[in-house]
Amino acid sequence: MRALQLIGDRKLELVDVPAPAPPGDGEVQIRIKAVGLNHLDVWGFRGMAFVKRKLPLVVGAEASGEIAAVGGGVTGFTTGDKVAMYGAMTCGHCAACREGRDNLCENVAGIMGFHIDGFARDLINMPARLVVPVPAAVSLRDAACAPIAFGTTEHMLFDNAKLKSGETILVHAGGSGIGSVAIKMAKAIGCTIITTVGDEAKAEKAKALGADHVINYKTERFEGVTRKLTAKKGVDVVFEHVGGEGFNASLFCLKRGGRLVTCGSTAGPAVTINLMQLFQQQYKIFGSFGCQIRNIRDSLSKMAAGMAPIIDTEVPLEDFERGLARLESRQVFGKVIVNF
Ligand SMILES: [Zn+2]
Repeated sequence: MRALQLIGDRKLELVDVPAPAPPGDGEVQIRIKAVGLNHLDVWGFRGMAFVKRKLPLVVGAEASGEIAAVGGGVTGFTTGDKVAMYGAMTCGHCAACREGRDNLCENVAGIMGFHIDGFARDLINMPARLVVPVPAAVSLRDAACAPIAFGTTEHMLFDNAKLKSGETILVHAGGSGIGSVAIKMAKAIGCTIITTVGDEAKAEKAKALGADHVINYKTERFEGVTRKLTAKKGVDVVFEHVGGEGFNASLFCLKRGGRLVTCGSTAGPAVTINLMQLFQQQYKIFGSFGCQIRNIRDSLSKMAAGMAPIIDTEVPLEDFERGLARLESRQVFGKVIVNF
């Protein structure tokens, strides 16, 4: 069977590897059908010195597929079922896992496709507890966006920032995979949405998704425009995943007692925070990483009810690297999907 391996920094190789053994007790075997690309994949591809991993490493952190075989003791799955998979190998028995807070697992073996072998291969065996059924109305292409793009956003907005109907939210990079999902999810509960984009073509697309106000961050200072749009009050929530110099500007966009939730730092990981501003303004800052399995189920339900992901590009497995290049170029609007 095929497997796409990272063999060095920025070096991918499509290789032929033996198919996995039949699934063991508690496992299912999945035939991968689609992989969603994320900035996590770009980080992994570029090479990150502080990441503990062994090469070669099968890439792919977010995926969907079909059940190919069912191991002993597994109920609820039969061959041919459509599924999406949780993207980290959690232990299943620590306190966090038992409470369903999978992304706080105390014994996590790693993020699939980043620390440990991922989904870019024809077949994979997974513990059945990490596998989520995909509703009939959802395509496998769309379902490939549930574990990270939708799941992460769902967890950020509703578990961490506790976004409520009627609130105002600033969504950074509305054209990104998670940004486009955040606009849709916030719109669906009746929020007012301000978003940032890097060019005018993306501004039109962001408006079509449901953004009420779009700021081109290349031509305007988003914090100034946001304060003006909110009559100097600021927004209830900032959806952040950019970091760098924009982070403090994002804090400046919050109203007193506002919440900032972040899951990324594509523009730089280190910032200086004014603590007086932090406590006097009573900001709440949430770091968020990954999601809970429940978030994937909820995301798939939302897709089944009509909230489809925005797909920018679909590429075959051989063109995985071209998909990454598209993500890296920042030309992308929505998700890049790798089809099998
Ligand atoms: Zn655990």
